[in-house]
Amino acid sequence: MTLEPEPCKPCQIARIVPTYPFFNLGCLHCGARIIQHLATLPIARSEVAARRRENLTHWVAFGHSEADLRALAQQKTPVISPAAGLVVSAGSGNHPAMKRR
Ligand SMILES: [Zn+2]
Repeated sequence: MTLEPEPCKPCQIARIVPTYPFFNLGCLHCGARIIQHLATLPIARSEVAARRRENLTHWVAFGHSEADLRALAQQKTPVISPAAGLVVSAGSGNHPAMKRR
């Protein structure tokens, strides 16, 4: 069983300000959130794709699963670490990252 060492700061802030533009390389949820964030930038789709690939490379190099990052980034709402809040709603149990044993 693995626990996140401590709640991720950017995730904690993003819980309050979803557009917070800072991301923690050590955090899977931040990696997924930056991928979502790129799509909101006023840049060409090809630029979005290039930056997504670049960021995926950084997060994967940090030991995160590319499949998890991509799955989390599909969420309609900003991806935020469940550890970042004091109260995690029971409705978030269908989290792709939670399916890992
Ligand atoms: Zn985070």
